[in-house]
This record gives sequence, C-alpha cells and structure tokens, in this order.
Amino acid sequence: MGIYSAEHRRLMEIFQSAHHQEYSELLSSLGSFMEKEILPVSPRLDTGEASIAKPRKSLLDQGMGLIAFPEEYGGLGLPFSVYANAIELLGTADASIALSVEIHNAVAEGLLRFGSEEQRKRYLNRIIAGKALASFALTEPASGSDSGTMATTAERKGGEYVINGSKMFITNAGEADLYLVFAKTKKGPSCFLLQAPNPGLRFGGDLKKLGMRGSKTSEVIFSDCRVPEESLVGEEGKGGDYAKEILHGARIVVAALNVGIAQIAYDKSLAYAKARRAFGKPISEFQLIREKIADMKTEINAGRLLYFYASRVKELGGAYASEASQAKVFATEMSLRACDEAIQIHGGYGYTTEELHRHWRDARLLTIGEGTSEVLRMLISRRELARSQ
Ligand SMILES: Cc1cc2nc3c(=O)[nH]c(=O)nc-3n(C[C@H](O)[C@H](O)[C@H](O)COP(=O)(O)OP(=O)(O)OC[C@H]3O[C@@H](n4cnc5c(N)ncnc54)[C@H](O)[C@@H]3O)c2cc1C
Repeated sequence: MGIYSAEHRRLMEIFQSAHHQEYSELLSSLGSFMEKEILPVSPRLDTGEASIAKPRKSLLDQGMGLIAFPEEYGGLGLPFSVYANAIELLGTADASIALSVEIHNAVAEGLLRFGSEEQRKRYLNRIIAGKALASFALTEPASGSDSGTMATTAERKGGEYVINGSKMFITNAGEADLYLVFAKTKKGPSCFLLQAPNPGLRFGGDLKKLGMRGSKTSEVIFSDCRVPEESLVGEEGKGGDYAKEILHGARIVVAALNVGIAQIAYDKSLAYAKARRAFGKPISEFQLIREKIADMKTEINAGRLLYFYASRVKELGGAYASEASQAKVFATEMSLRACDEAIQIHGGYGYTTEELHRHWRDARLLTIGEGTSEVLRMLISRRELARSQ
C-alpha cells in the first residue's frame, strides 16, 4: 500500500492549476521518497527496532524543511499550504517522523518571525537544511495548557542569562542541536535559543508513550545553564506571545498530520473491506460497512479542507488562530474516529493487528499536544465572539 490517496493526487492537481507546476512536482518527489524510504521503516520505528535519526535526516536532506521559508535563508519560498500538504503525506508515511519534523520546522518559523537578523543568518539556514535539529521547550512538569505560570527562570548576570528549571514532554529532546526555550525573566516569559551541548543542560530518560514511539520525548533540565545574552530571541517579556504565535502555525500542520494518519487507516480499511468475505460476499457489500466508509471519507476530506483553508488564511496574512484551531480540533478528533472505525471494520483482526493499533496510538497524542481540544475550543469561541462584536 502506498501513501497517495486519490484525493491527494487531486489536491496536487488543484495546486497545479491554481498555482505552479513546481508545487505538485515537489510534492510528488517528496511523496515518492517517503513511499520508498519512510513508509517501509515505519513499523520498526514504532517497535524501537529502527532509529528515527537516519530517515528524518534523509528526509530533511530532500528539502522537507525548506518548503515555506524565504529563499534568502536557503528556503524554497513556497506557500505554507504546500508545506502542510507535504506533512499530510508524511503523516501517512510515518506519524512519529512527521511530529519530529513539524516541531523542528516550528522552531525555524519562530526564529524567522521573532529572531534577530543575526540569529536568522546564523541558525535558520542550518535548521531548515537539516544540518541542525531543533526542539521547542515550553511545557513544564507543573504547567502545560497554563504555560504562563512557568517556573523556569532566566536571570541576567553580566553578559549572560543563567537558566534554571525544567521542561517536560519535549519532542526531539536529547537529540536536538538547538532548543527554543521559554523562561521567565524580570519582565516575564521570554524566549531563548540554546545550543547543545551545554554543561548546564541535561535530559531525563526517553519517556514511554502510548504512540508516536518513533519520536523521542523527554524532560529537559537546566541547572545554572549559562547562555550568552545574544541567545535571547526578540524582546524580554514577549516570549509568551511568541510561543502562542508559533503554536498557531504548528496547529495547522498538526491538523494535516492527522489527516495523513486518518488516510492510511482508511486506505487499509477499504482494501480489507473489499477482500474480507462474510455471508457469501465481501463485507464492503454491507450497507453498514459502506456507511462507515462514506463517513470516514467525508470527514477526512473535511479535515483536509480545514487545514488547507487555515493555511490559505495564514498565507494571505489574515488572523488565523481560530481557523488553525478549528482545523486542529476537527482533524485530530476525526483521525481518532477514523482509526477506531478502521479497527471495527477489521473485526477481530483489527483488535489483534499492531499495524492498525499504531495509527490509533499515534493519533491519540494530538488532541492533547500543541493545545488540547478543550483549550482550543475556548480559543475558537473567544476569538469568534470577539469577531462578532
Ligand atoms: C508525546 C508528547 C510530546 C510533546 N511535545 C512537546 C514539545 O515538543 N514541546 C512542548 O513544549 N510540549 C510538548 N508536549 C506537551 C503538550 O503540549 C502538553 O501535554 C499539552 O499542552 C497539555 O498540557 P498538560 O499535559 O500539562 O495538560 P494540562 O494543561 O494539565 O491539562 C490537563 C487536562 O485539563 C484540561 N484543561 C486545562 N485547562 C483547562 C481549561 N481552562 N478548561 C477546560 N479544560 C482545561 C486539558 O484540556 C486536559 O484535558 C508534548 C506532550 C506529549 C505527550
């Protein structure tokens, strides 16, 4: 089974007609690479028999990080929707690599938007070209959704900041070369770019997880971690705003990732429904199975349109926090429903086939990570109520 769906091919055609052929050529070439190099290794990443480092690096070498960044920093200067679409394909090929790459790229977007020209020149090219792996460290053991109550501090001493505290559930931790860290200064939450290794920086062990097992997640601990004052990103006290802005963009991408997971669960279900026979005919002939297929397909396309729509709003420079959250809430919850129905369609084999469980386990993270569904529903309603005033 491959990673292209009929809809995905159609979306590429839309890109082709609406924009330029180069978008669809790029997506085809990345997709072919994923199908050949990422999809086959995916089950072994889940079981821990293969490491994420090599396939992720080879994917970044193919230009997966470059898509939506300006050409002056080595990027391809293409629209955000093209990048989101590439992440959908990657979510189908392997969700763990998609998560790791999505967070890595979110750090690059943060630097592009809020970093100094010197920071951009020094780091951005290396990150998007895959020469340095990046990690985003906001959540703490005692503060997640309520990240404004962070306890990690950054004290200015001479020409340095001294960071103390810890961050929890950090993707790419221990592997990354660069960490975008949020810590409180006298002026409030602030943002820093830390280079590893640093004598004051260490990591907890790799956390055991329900899904996304190919990606690394761990605690990041700062003990008198000294960084030069040039490590401050943007202005002191504005880190909370930067984190929110970075997450708005990342939520569109997470929605795309989840559409990718739902798509592979659907493709497997469709193939199984045609092959499995009961009462003298393929189960795809039964109306109640057909209802599931119809609902799964409709919802997957709805998720795809929502992330595409949010991407376009972002590209056009409008306020997109609500649209990004709508796409994420819908697509993450939809992919869980799709993965659950996939298990149901496979019957007893669904309950006993690890290959199907993996998609549900991977999807399960993303109604929690990068903004829980509860918190994002609050955000959507707040923004929409304010818009209607
Ligand atoms: C595998 C994994 C990878 C992750 N990667 C990263 C990473 O790279 N970087 C990073 O910074 N973080 C990362 N996270 C952290 C993730 O973003 C947080 O887990 C998430 O934001 C939720 O925070 P929390 O776990 O503290 O839950 P809490 O905020 O404690 O929430 C617990 C429950 O309470 C609900 N809740 C909270 N506030 C409200 C409210 N006001 N109204 C209604 N309900 C509410 C939540 O929706 C949730 O159901 C990762 C987490 C995991 C599991």
